[in-house]
Amino acid sequence: MGKCMIIGCGGVASVAIHKCCQNSAVFEEILIASRTKSKCDALKEKLQPTTATKIHTAQVDADSVPQLVALIERFRPDVVLNLALPYQDLTIMDACLATKTHYVDTANYEPVDTAKFEYKWQWAYRERFRDAGICALLGSGFDPGVTGVFSAYALKHHFDEINYIDILDCNGGDHGYPFATNFNPEINIREVSANGSYWENGAWVETKPMEIKREYDFKGVGKKDMYLLHHEELESLGQNIPGIRRIRFFMTFGQSYLTHLKCLEDVGMTSIKPILYEGREIVPLQFLKAVLPDPASLGPRTVGKTNIGCIFQGKKDGQDKTYYLYNICDHQACYREVGSQAISYTTGVPAMIGAMLVMTGVWNRPGVWNMEEFDPDPFMEALNRWGLPWEEDFHPVLVD
Ligand code: NDP
Repeated sequence: MGKCMIIGCGGVASVAIHKCCQNSAVFEEILIASRTKSKCDALKEKLQPTTATKIHTAQVDADSVPQLVALIERFRPDVVLNLALPYQDLTIMDACLATKTHYVDTANYEPVDTAKFEYKWQWAYRERFRDAGICALLGSGFDPGVTGVFSAYALKHHFDEINYIDILDCNGGDHGYPFATNFNPEINIREVSANGSYWENGAWVETKPMEIKREYDFKGVGKKDMYLLHHEELESLGQNIPGIRRIRFFMTFGQSYLTHLKCLEDVGMTSIKPILYEGREIVPLQFLKAVLPDPASLGPRTVGKTNIGCIFQGKKDGQDKTYYLYNICDHQACYREVGSQAISYTTGVPAMIGAMLVMTGVWNRPGVWNMEEFDPDPFMEALNRWGLPWEEDFHPVLVD
């Protein structure tokens, strides 16, 4: 069918690349391009004997538009799948514009010096992408990503109007370390140490970090404490789901994680402001990342399950209705299949599916789009087929 250039070769990219290689009918050729080429070469060596997909590798600095343009012009992909860090979103979008190539990512742009993710920078590309006749699909991970698809599916099949959405992200996995993060530590800690917020009646309500706590009994996992966080899909769903009154996002954290995080914050280790150390500028959070376990190394040690989904409340045929859509994913099953834990798996699979739907033209319109703006049905079918089957509950326990 076609060619995909994948930028980044970390935890999420590794899963997406395994999945592309299982799907050779669509991904005939892939180019893995990242900052550290040896990681791309190691993955190629592992996967090439197992797949009909032809794998190429390259070194690239994705902060450099000219380097990206040169590589895209050489490989001529149908789509660029950005699985580097949120800081690279805009340079990669610029390179896609310059070469008229479709674009898919899993996380919205965030400037390096401000821990604040918003869609405004990427939405500002709408006209340019439309005029160039190319498609950008934003946030094709699990959350954001599948949560937007779930919302569009609920609206299409189960509601006339959705008034409340609670997104619940539960990781019941245990990696045995006192403190480690399940995806890029820098991005993860920036996210959880920021103020929380939720969307209500057309405006943001801001909270202190971890101020709002609830307990929920998750199927497949059990009872967990969860905390309200700001999350990027709240912004796009607030605009794209008609009749919406409130959207909240909750993530579970264990006590050990929170105690360590508080201590690291109190001593200044989570700061993103550069400091001078022995004559050299370092960013404390980047230094912390260097001493923490690499999320990619957690796979063999992590046991337990994740349960991520959305609880919807709204109206159908004049009646009040509730509906819960979720996926349960087993860390060890993921590890056996692709050598990664479930956090990378639940992001990497939707990343492959998003790239596939754009490449095959099933989800492809000129412009810049969020997940809930396309027909959810092909994505929902692909989730069942490619390893993230979903379950539904028509009488869920609600979050107060
Ligand atoms: P990793 O840190 O494991 O991987 C990032 C990769 O990007 C590394 O291979 C890194 O290279 C590469 N990279 C970083 N900077 C550059 C650059 N300037 N040029 C080229 N390559 C670069 O991160 P994850 O795999 O955990 O996360 C990947 C993305 O997925 C992130 O944007 C994250 O926010 C997002 N994500 C989305 C989720 C969702 O549900 N939507 C959930 C989890 C993550 P090197 O190997 O040299 O460090």
